[in-house]
Amino acid sequence: EALSTLSITVVGASGDLAKKKIFPALFALYYEDCLPKNFIVFGYARTKLTDEELRNIISTTLTCRIDKTENCKDKMEQFLKRCFYHSGEYNSEENFAELDSKLKKKETGKLSNRLFYLSIPPNIFVDVVRCASMMASSANGWTRVIVEKPFGRDSESSAELTKCLKKYLTEDQIFRIDHYLGKELVENLSVLRFSNLIFEPLWSRNYIRNVQFIFSEDFGTEGRGGYFDNYGIIRDIMQNHLLQILALFAMETPVSLDAEDIRNEKVKVLRSMKPLELEDVIIGQYKGHNKGGRAYPGYTDDSTVPKNSITPTFAAAALFINNARWDGVPFLMKAGKALHRKRAEIRVQFRHVPGNLYKRNFGTDLDKATNELVLRVQPDEAIYLKINNKVPGLGMRLDRSDLNLLYRARYPTEIPDAYERLLLDAIAGERRLFIRSDELDAAWSLFTPLLKELEAKKIAPELYPYGSRGPIGAHYLAAKYNVRWGDLGGEDD
Ligand code: NAP
Repeated sequence: EALSTLSITVVGASGDLAKKKIFPALFALYYEDCLPKNFIVFGYARTKLTDEELRNIISTTLTCRIDKTENCKDKMEQFLKRCFYHSGEYNSEENFAELDSKLKKKETGKLSNRLFYLSIPPNIFVDVVRCASMMASSANGWTRVIVEKPFGRDSESSAELTKCLKKYLTEDQIFRIDHYLGKELVENLSVLRFSNLIFEPLWSRNYIRNVQFIFSEDFGTEGRGGYFDNYGIIRDIMQNHLLQILALFAMETPVSLDAEDIRNEKVKVLRSMKPLELEDVIIGQYKGHNKGGRAYPGYTDDSTVPKNSITPTFAAAALFINNARWDGVPFLMKAGKALHRKRAEIRVQFRHVPGNLYKRNFGTDLDKATNELVLRVQPDEAIYLKINNKVPGLGMRLDRSDLNLLYRARYPTEIPDAYERLLLDAIAGERRLFIRSDELDAAWSLFTPLLKELEAKKIAPELYPYGSRGPIGAHYLAAKYNVRWGDLGGEDD
């Protein structure tokens, strides 16, 4: 290791994602001693900055783990000394050649490995990949490129992007990031299933009534609607993050934990699904609203959004997996902005207990009395199982209680950010949590016909007030499949 250097180039280093996520994640890895002994970090963007100016910008967002503050300030100083900046155009081979010579000057030892993180808008992905691979690839070690979504906006544009990227890179050099796969509870999904006896036997249509994947944000686009308006919530959240979690949830037991074995199983799930149909989807858009003396803006009040935009900021959908395990089980997704709270979770609703002896104690509300397993991905990570329990006392009254694994109570350490895990994996060449191109194709084929139909028919979204629980249509969609959304109970639900 002493003979090699790892260079990490963050392309688009002047941007928001780089500042908020990538540099802090790199520092956390350094602080945890997870980076090789010799490493350097380069920022690359058009903005003119000196090394010192980049360091000043980065230094404002580096943080220490709450439970490990010892030496943290020294570590920050040492980390910042390894950060450099090169200003250049995204389509200039010459500018990337300059970067290459700067990298070479700083790389020590015989071998250099190079990781490029593309934190830039998608229209310049291919330019950067072309220039970087031609002019700034490692001469003797590996060269890998991390790409951020969006990977196209439908099947065709995604295939075109893949084709262009593959002109310059092989599939195993491309790391398509879906940061939901780096989240602790999503990683834990397979542990829960495959290393406990009690869940896997229940994991099928025999015991599960429906599964729900829910994502909500309690804020709108807030002046950053330019990117979003072109994509909408279905492309931004459902086609990637929620579908990835669904595939992990529903896959068969992989042959091993190797990346290819896992991705093979995920792609089988996606290919067993039928493309979404309009009648199984509802879309919404938030509208202005006054609450508690405060005015909340509607989506189209955002100055970065066209006044007549019909881009959905909310969507709910029912999906089905046509295989022996899941035949007929509704997989519901719901994603939205400007809702009443911020939450990402997976909810598994189990069937009724047949011939339930305690039916009388439940009255007619047996629907509420089924077991439900919830994995709360964020915030406040938790896994809990809703069970029916006898209320202590002389009578026989039942209520709903939780077997509750609350992470902050059980594990009093800070949970690493998803970007830390993903960067570490990319450095190690571990591809398990990155999206393979056939997975991406399969994911787009499920959503592309629907997206085209919504756009061709100019279907208007149902309006819902900013800060509400979303449009009523989501309830009708669930009711059509005899489902009740699990997140509509009390605040803890
Ligand atoms: P950003 O701040 O808008 O862009 C990053 C940098 O790219 C900018 O600092 C700018 O650098 C350059 N750039 C911006 N617009 C450009 C244009 N039209 N043409 C050429 N260069 C341009 O984006 P970000 O929020 O950091 O996100 C980076 C990428 O990650 C985005 O493209 C997005 O697709 C993706 N992403 C972001 C998030 C997030 O949470 N922010 C989440 C998921 C995915 P210079 O002007 O200095 O060259």
